[in-house]
Amino acid sequence: MQFIYQIIELTNPQLNILQKLAKDKQVENKKYFDKLKKKTPKNLDYIMQDLHDAEFKKTDCLSCANCCKTTGPLFTSADIERISKHLRQKPQQFIDQYLRIDEDNDYVLQKLPCTFLDTDNACFIYDVRPKACREFPHTDRKKFQQITNITLKNIPVCPAVYNIVEEMKRKLPL
Ligand code: SF4
Ligand code: SF4
Repeated sequence: MQFIYQIIELTNPQLNILQKLAKDKQVENKKYFDKLKKKTPKNLDYIMQDLHDAEFKKTDCLSCANCCKTTGPLFTSADIERISKHLRQKPQQFIDQYLRIDEDNDYVLQKLPCTFLDTDNACFIYDVRPKACREFPHTDRKKFQQITNITLKNIPVCPAVYNIVEEMKRKLPL
């Protein structure tokens, strides 16, 4: 497969065109991930960890927060327990005030951008934030080949994921 690689800078004008860039690459990325699932390199976990670390060394999430503004996490029972305790609320109060149940029966935010996002893009509840926020964007997840559908969904949201996938195709041609 022939690819044209394009790494983007994490600036607002570039964030604005992320959705278009992601759309342009959608078919190419899907084909690449289909091949990855059939021909998974033995050392993929190490490759992904390196790609993830290299991208996040130069990524300043505080100048982006696009994930917090546009998607938001799901909240597990443990998340609800921990965060409501931190806010000195009963879990049910926290649920009633901030959460709703989505079509997959998961607790998600009632509103976006996330209620806990400050104007400087910091998270009010950073130390107790949901597991999904801590792990986002999952590009250092073991057995990455099993979560390529999630990655495809995250490419238009997260410029770091976009770049990691571009770099992945360059370093790991299939
Ligand atoms: S994880 Fe991605 S979308 Fe979220 S703030 Fe960092 S670069 Fe932006
Ligand atoms: S809880 Fe914090 S990290 Fe998670 S989406 Fe909200 S502001 Fe972002």
